[in-house]
This record gives sequence, structure tokens and C-alpha cells, in this order.
Amino acid sequence: MNDQQKIASKRYQPYNNKNISKIQALEGLPSSYKEEIDVVSRVLPFRTNNYVVDELIDWDNIPNDPIFQLTFPQRKMLKWRDYEMIRTQIQQGASENEIIKKAQMIQKKMNPHPAGQISMNVPEFRGKRLNGIQHKYDETVLFFPTQGQTCHAYCTYCFRWPQFVGLEELKFSSASINELILYLDSHPEVTDVLITGGDPLFMSANVLEKYIEPLIRKRPGNISTIRFGTKVPAYWPYRFLTDNDSDKLIRLFGKIVDSGFHLSIMSHFSHYRELETDPARHAIRRILSTGAVVRCQAPLIRHINDHSYIWTRMWKNQVALGAIPYYMFVERNTGPKDYFSVSLADAYMIFKNAYKRVSGLSRTVRGPSMSSTPGKILIDGVTTIGNEKVFVLKFIQGRDSSWVNKIFFAKYDEHSGWLDDLKPAFGAKQFFFEDRLAEMKAEKELFEDAS
Ligand SMILES: *Cc1c(COP(=O)(O)O)cnc(C)c1O
Ligand code: SF4
Repeated sequence: MNDQQKIASKRYQPYNNKNISKIQALEGLPSSYKEEIDVVSRVLPFRTNNYVVDELIDWDNIPNDPIFQLTFPQRKMLKWRDYEMIRTQIQQGASENEIIKKAQMIQKKMNPHPAGQISMNVPEFRGKRLNGIQHKYDETVLFFPTQGQTCHAYCTYCFRWPQFVGLEELKFSSASINELILYLDSHPEVTDVLITGGDPLFMSANVLEKYIEPLIRKRPGNISTIRFGTKVPAYWPYRFLTDNDSDKLIRLFGKIVDSGFHLSIMSHFSHYRELETDPARHAIRRILSTGAVVRCQAPLIRHINDHSYIWTRMWKNQVALGAIPYYMFVERNTGPKDYFSVSLADAYMIFKNAYKRVSGLSRTVRGPSMSSTPGKILIDGVTTIGNEKVFVLKFIQGRDSSWVNKIFFAKYDEHSGWLDDLKPAFGAKQFFFEDRLAEMKAEKELFEDAS
């Protein structure tokens, strides 16, 4: 069967704040929407495309449609005062430079570098910082290829937003594959390379091959798994079906598998609707036909997927297509978090209510999980011990591997949205990991001073 032949090809048409007038669907809406998009997109990145606009968004349900919320900037993503400042600047005909200056002021207030990503995750090797590589958990190295630092559309809640607005100029993305290979050779604990972005599958098959080929030829260190972190199956499934180099991309996946690697496509799906179009379904089938595995993950986001029903249906869709539910994340404490965040207490309830309605095959999913500075921390329960109501928390990844699978407790608080808001339970002064984490921070700072 030749799946891609059943899908008519589509030419990729990106939309951003320079060409919104091309989006015909916006014509029928009140002009206030265009103003909102214009104002907010000066501060936060905006990009969508003709597949998202034509096949995913329900234009009879604006502004509440979850996919509209997913890629179109919303007024309340900015604080009222910040919004008014930018709006007034535009209205008064301020120069591009003035507006950028104001926008950067606002961006810098929005915690652009959460969870120690730059200060703690970028490794040092032979006395040099390896920009473009992150190594936080023993077994897995993240690699950010330069050409993969953009996406077919931008998620409004994206925690990588600083790099799309030029605040974080390619700091993660200047890695060379040779440096990666040397690094892996001297780190035998690493089994997985996770190629990420942005979106690495935004790259052409030719460019991607230049990164992959040396890995499969040299087999550095103990690498057994190659993962791609991607939202292309959701944002541009034609990438695997009818684009000019789709066949080449699919052959490259096959080649990775044939070389004896496990290939895992870590697919970001935010809503079940992204799995219910014909192109998306065919894309997943075609990926699976190479021997790759598709694992699915997404953050839990207010206005987009904050109902258990959405997750139940999404996980069922994934399993029906042969994909594996993997992670539900808590929205990170960065960017427009006030608009999107769901409290930890609500996140736990949504997860639990969705999880109890699916069979064991969907219960490979883990969550809700916070990717925080010390590690991935699961909210594993809410209970009462003695007289104290607590969150049961569990490390599922740790910056120090001895923390993994450890259970600990925080005072229950219905408003907390992130680890930083939580207090240790039972009168403890600090969480068990804090001394060691401070030590690790200090070690990194010493290195930074020296380099
Ligand atoms: C999530 C994550 C990984 C991968 O963790 P797994 O649990 O193996 O999927 C690796 N590095 C970083 C920095 C991460 O946040
Ligand atoms: S696909 Fe990923 S990197 Fe790209 S905008 Fe969405 S969350 Fe960010």
C-alpha cells in the first residue's frame, strides 16, 4: 500500500505577522483580532501555516477554538499594561526599533531562561562550553542542530520562545556534529541522543542526513537510540507524505533503523484534533512503516487541553494509530504562563480523570510532570498523612541520578503551579535535594568563572 498517494499534496504556506492579510479565514472576524495578533506578536513569536488554518482550526468557534489558541497570539498573553504600551506605540507610528526596544523590556520580565537551561545544562568538554548540546540526565544528550531551530508553526505556550524572537540568538544551536561525537565517545553513560529544536524535522532530508550519517557510521560511545523531538506530525504531516523530499526523509528513518538503532519520534500532540485528520493519520502510519516508534507528549495548557476528556480521546487516538503515550507535562514557568498555566492540583485531577478512562495500553503515559531544575518531577498523588494534606511527588528524572524514583512530599496548596511555589511538608526546612543542587550550581558557576 502506498499511503502517501491517497493524500493530495499541499504547498507549505507559512503565516506570520508580516502577512496575516493572506489568512482569509481572519477576514470574517472582528478587526480586534487582527490588532491583538499584531500587538502580541511584537513581543511573543507568531507563526502558523495553511494546514493549521485550513484543516485544524474550527473558525466557527473563535476565540475559544483550542487550535486557534495554540498558534494565534491572544491578548491576555500579555499583562494589560504591557499590551497597552505596545498598542500605543504602534498607533503613534513609533519606529520598528523603538517597538523592539519596548518589546525586549517586556520579554526580559517573562523569565526567558527557566530551569537552569543555559547555566546548568550546557556541558563543558576539554575546557570549552559546548553550545548546541545539553546534558542534564546521564543517559540522554540533547542536540540542537542549527538549521532545526524553527518550527512549521509556533505554539503560543512554547518555552523556547526566546530563541524565536531573537532574545536567545542561536545559543543552543551552534553545535557541530564532530563535537557531539567526541563528547559521546568520552561519555559511555549516554545511550540516547535526542535531536531537538525548534523542530529538527523542519530541516531538509539532505541537511538532516549530514547530521545523522556520522552518528550511524561512527556509532560513538554507547549510543543505541536516536530520538527526534518534533511537532511536524501535528503541524505539517505532509512532511512525511508529499513534500519534495518526503521519500528521502522516510528512507533516512529506515536507514537509521536498519543500522541497528532504535529510532523514536517524540511527537508533540496538544489536542486530539491533531490526530484526526487524514494527513496526520497517514503520516504516522508511514513513519511506523520504517520501524521507528512514535511516542507522544505535550504539556497541559489552559484554554487548549485542560479537560480530561481531551486527553482520554487523544491517548486513545494515539494507541489506535500504533503510537505510544509518553509524557504529560506541566506548563513551564516562563513566557505567558499566567494565561496558560494550570495549577498542580488541577493538573493532577485532569490527569487522573483521563488516566482512569483508558486501558493499560494508554497508561504508558506519565504525568503530570514538571521539567524543573533538579529534574522531572511527577505529581503522583494528593493525600493526607497524619493531619497534613500533601502532594506526593516523585522524581522520574534527576540531575543527580540517585534521586530517580525517590518519593517526597510537599504541603498541598491548591494555587501552586510549579515546584518553586511548593513548601516541604511536615515542617521540613527544605526538600531533600536542595543542598546537593546548590552544590551542583556552584560547581557550574566555578567553571563559568574560569572559562
Ligand atoms: C525530558 C528530558 C530528557 C529525556 O528524558 P526521558 O525521560 O529519557 O524521556 C533529556 N534531557 C532533558 C533536559 C529533558 O528535559
Ligand atoms: S513545536 Fe515545540 S519548539 Fe516549536 S513552537 Fe511548539 S513547543 Fe515550541
